[in-house]
Amino acid sequence: MSSSSIPFNFAEWPPSLSPEQQTTLIQKATTRALATGLLYLPPGYPLESPPPQAAIHAPLSLFPAPFSRESFEFAQEIQSLYNVLYSHIAMDTEFLDEIMGAEKGVGRVDDFIGELWKGWKVLRDSNSVPQPLHLGLFRSDYLYHLPPEGEAFLKQVEFNTISVSFGCLSQRIAELHRQAPTLPLHLMLSTSYFNSSPHLKLENLPKNDTIAGLAKGIAAGHAAYVSNGGSPSSKILFVVQAGERNVFDQRWLEYELLEKHSIHSIRQTFEELITSSSVDTSSSSLKITPTDSPNESIEISVVYYRAGYMPHEYPSQEYYSTRFKLESSRAIKCPTIPLQLAGGKKIQEVLGRKGLVERFLPGVPQSQVDRLRKTFMDMWGLDEDSRGAVGDVTSTSTTDSASPSPSAPPPTSSESFGTQRARAEHATLVLKPQREGGGNNVYKSDIPAFLDGLPAHEREAWIAMRLIEVPQGLGGWLIRAGSLDYGGSSDKSRAERAVKAEVVSELGIFGWALFGAGKVQGEEEVGWLVRTKGKDSNEGGVATGFSVLDSVLLV
Ligand code: ADP
Ligand code: MG
Ligand code: MG
Repeated sequence: MSSSSIPFNFAEWPPSLSPEQQTTLIQKATTRALATGLLYLPPGYPLESPPPQAAIHAPLSLFPAPFSRESFEFAQEIQSLYNVLYSHIAMDTEFLDEIMGAEKGVGRVDDFIGELWKGWKVLRDSNSVPQPLHLGLFRSDYLYHLPPEGEAFLKQVEFNTISVSFGCLSQRIAELHRQAPTLPLHLMLSTSYFNSSPHLKLENLPKNDTIAGLAKGIAAGHAAYVSNGGSPSSKILFVVQAGERNVFDQRWLEYELLEKHSIHSIRQTFEELITSSSVDTSSSSLKITPTDSPNESIEISVVYYRAGYMPHEYPSQEYYSTRFKLESSRAIKCPTIPLQLAGGKKIQEVLGRKGLVERFLPGVPQSQVDRLRKTFMDMWGLDEDSRGAVGDVTSTSTTDSASPSPSAPPPTSSESFGTQRARAEHATLVLKPQREGGGNNVYKSDIPAFLDGLPAHEREAWIAMRLIEVPQGLGGWLIRAGSLDYGGSSDKSRAERAVKAEVVSELGIFGWALFGAGKVQGEEEVGWLVRTKGKDSNEGGVATGFSVLDSVLLV
């Protein structure tokens, strides 16, 4: 697998450095992070604040993470298929109604999903969806599955269709690990790492041009809007969260749109949009009146959500109404409500059933469909009576472990088969609700007690997923900013800046798609992300402090 003649030894990663070398390398890395905008706003950054005066470097990995070259290239290759697959799912209203809707699907028991679906349904029924195009900025996340028996392969953790983050910062960390992307090859990159590993060569550290790629997707949406009669001076609306610390990841995209595409952006929170936004009754154009320019009315070409995926972001009906107001405009939404719903974990589970992928990828050769399916992990719904018994779309699963486990107790009237199976096999499972943003899953030994407390009708909102068996014994150096925070208070738990730990790395592949009226107009695979976390942490969110940004070392 290695391009190098020297075999890669996972047990010897990360390379060893003397304490002095380590200090130098950390200094180089964090200085470069600060110099190149690999940044967060500091913890405690005041909400009601003057413009920021300081930033901290994002948590980062000192060395890139070894990753199978073959798997990495495979994930890049199938991204286009995933872009097309999710585009077709988002265009299949009937399917989304059945799986996610508030009359027949998950929306009956999950209030957040139900509210989004109901708002969308009202708009559809009143002919208030004037924009046929949807824009998706996607990230398909994977872990490397290395079971004691059976084939090692890349498995999909989830497919994200709203507010995918770290595209820009992942480019910056890849540049950081490459150290000097323009160095002539004979100036060995390894020298920058004190010759600590012969594998640290440019050819093993792929380029990552995510910023340009994601901006190109947004620019394609803008161009489609303008060519359909929208104002050429219309702007991109970034819908953002109040108190967001991961702002630089968003700003790099804004700068790229302006500098490379001459497109301006504005940023607004949902709260601001309640009063600042309006939809023109005759043209359906979305107009924003910013607080700093009350006489202006800015036409919006693309609504780009970096918010709106968690229930608490909609504290009252006004917030939902604002979301539906934006949805009813002819601005292109990234994503639309159906595309957000398509990213639900329930959809991912249902896709595992026989014939479903084929339904959304008509005309795609079976060999290609099979390649995509190889990334699926076994999943099922907690409400299932028997394998594949939910809804009309189902039939039997094609995954290996689809047949009832011999350890599962026989079904009783009080508990669905899906729940009993999750109970019996809990040691190898994670349970997931229809949520995004980390921190929502239930793992292994926590599962039985959780199931005891889960009301029967809520089972429909949860899926069980087989745990991906990640490689063991791989180490890494995780570096975070210290205790200095904006308000000068110190948090002792963050005092340890550099931690050597056994780690697991999650790969994300970015893509975009512009689609509507049954057709995909454009799509591309545009870059990648690696997040590395300590082995003892179940969740993988960088923003919540569990993991660091990383890049790949192809082996
Ligand atoms: P979210 O949308 O909240 O990010 P994910 O499905 O990505 O939810 O789950 C969060 C984290 O949980 C992942 O980043 C990964 O670390 C872990 N995880 C999720 N599914 C699995 C799985 N099947 N096997 C192992 N780890 C998983
Ligand atoms: Mg995730
Ligand atoms: Mg997610």
